[in-house]
Amino acid sequence: MSDGARPAPEHSGPTAPADGTPRHAVVVGGGLAGTTAALALADAGVRVTLLEGRPRLGGLAFSFQRDGLTVDNGQHVYLRCCTAYRWFLDRIEGAALAPLQDRLDVPVVDADKPEGRRLGRLRRDPLPVPLHLGRSLAAYPHLSLAERAAVGRAALALKGLDPTDPALDTQDFGGWLAAHGQSARAVEALWDLVGVATLNAVAGDASLGLAAMVFKTGLLSDPGAADIGWAHVPLGELHDRLARKALDSAGVRTEVRTRVTSLTQNGNGGWSVQVPGESLHADAVVLAVPQREAHDLLPPGALDDPGRLLRIGTAPILNVHVVYDRQVLARPFFAALGSPVQWVFDRTAASGLTGGQYLALSQSAAQDEIDTPVAELRERYLPELERLIPGTRTARVRDFFVTRERTATFAPAPGVGRLRPGARTKASGLYLAGAWTATGWPATMESAVRSGVSAADAALGALGRPRPRHLFALEEAA
Ligand SMILES: Cc1cc2nc3c(=O)[nH]c(=O)nc-3n(C[C@H](O)[C@H](O)[C@H](O)COP(=O)(O)OP(=O)(O)OC[C@H]3O[C@@H](n4cnc5c(N)ncnc54)[C@H](O)[C@@H]3O)c2cc1C
Repeated sequence: MSDGARPAPEHSGPTAPADGTPRHAVVVGGGLAGTTAALALADAGVRVTLLEGRPRLGGLAFSFQRDGLTVDNGQHVYLRCCTAYRWFLDRIEGAALAPLQDRLDVPVVDADKPEGRRLGRLRRDPLPVPLHLGRSLAAYPHLSLAERAAVGRAALALKGLDPTDPALDTQDFGGWLAAHGQSARAVEALWDLVGVATLNAVAGDASLGLAAMVFKTGLLSDPGAADIGWAHVPLGELHDRLARKALDSAGVRTEVRTRVTSLTQNGNGGWSVQVPGESLHADAVVLAVPQREAHDLLPPGALDDPGRLLRIGTAPILNVHVVYDRQVLARPFFAALGSPVQWVFDRTAASGLTGGQYLALSQSAAQDEIDTPVAELRERYLPELERLIPGTRTARVRDFFVTRERTATFAPAPGVGRLRPGARTKASGLYLAGAWTATGWPATMESAVRSGVSAADAALGALGRPRPRHLFALEEAA
């Protein structure tokens, strides 16, 4: 066990079954899915132990120190329609640190115009769906009039799709867009601009079901659904420090640097969770680890076809970090066209930098660049930033580094839907959570939190505990 291990709090009263023994759930994995499951179970009165292999909570969304800067492993954003992640932020008392825009407003800079850079905006008006985007689309300078009209027609066709229809998961979004009259330019300047960032795949590599889910929920449900939120503090402040504080107050025993090596079901239906030097007894286990680790830990017979977890592909995200000696960008973020640069965020204040400006470039679906040497990335990206942000042309680069997440998300490829298991397994008392499980969402913080809620819900049923209504209301609304 790690340093600072505290004795597990002994709950009594409503948690205890007739023989007085408190029910105990072990959650394996302290990413957003596991942290959520632990909080939800503890909120329902279960005694919970959360085990995390790394020295911190937060999983794939974390921060680290570098030369006095606090750096996020990758820029993370969420949307107003991410009700589960917003619940999580509220639950850890972090919502004010990751605020939403009042109203969707995305500056889109095209670097490739003969007349120089061109700025467009994707923003919404206070009108009902789909009129809320009508004016912005009509004025969007990166598409021709005919392309804008075709985008409107495709959006209406998309609205008619049912993302849960298994047939949609067998088709690719790119093919559907082409069949609905979308030019290559419309795909690049609109569909992929949003889709690559949310799905971590270009349209041609994405399941139509997942794409329809993202675009319908984000752009065609509620007018404010796509308003963007992001952490104005390091991710670790939310997903590690505040999450840990919430877990502590809920009475969860949290152990970091504690890697689970095996799970065994006992004759009496309980579970033995093996960590180095110790075996924990559990009445229920939530396995909230990535799909490959879940595959390796699942006992035989827990899933009909456990091999399918290994057939869920993964997709990389690269972040390029540049620290300039002066302020070069006035906006908090923008998206780029006509350049390898995708999205650029100002991380100066969040990182603790006091002089100059720190920009983070979020490069999704980065299969072609994930292993490119830093020097080469520097040669590629600094001139691109000079094309996109005039202020950089006279600024000095104080630092340039990259963070590479090779398995940032599951690959949202056609067919992935039938590979994603739900929270319940065939082994009683064993549940799965993780952004990769069957939430209907792509691999996002929202999917992770939803999966944690679903796993806790299933475990509570088996433990005979009532569901706290405030929490599961968001599942019912989904
Ligand atoms: C660079 C990057 C950018 C992203 N951008 C966005 C974004 O903008 N918006 C968004 O919504 N999402 C984004 N995501 C995706 C999001 O971060 C993930 O979907 C989410 O954090 C996954 O959470 P999780 O709990 O399901 O899994 P994980 O975060 O993978 O957590 C699993 C945890 O299990 C632990 N573990 C594994 N094996 C064991 C074991 N044997 N014993 C104990 N612990 C174990 C791991 O250490 C890890 O902490 C991004 C991801 C990356 C990497």
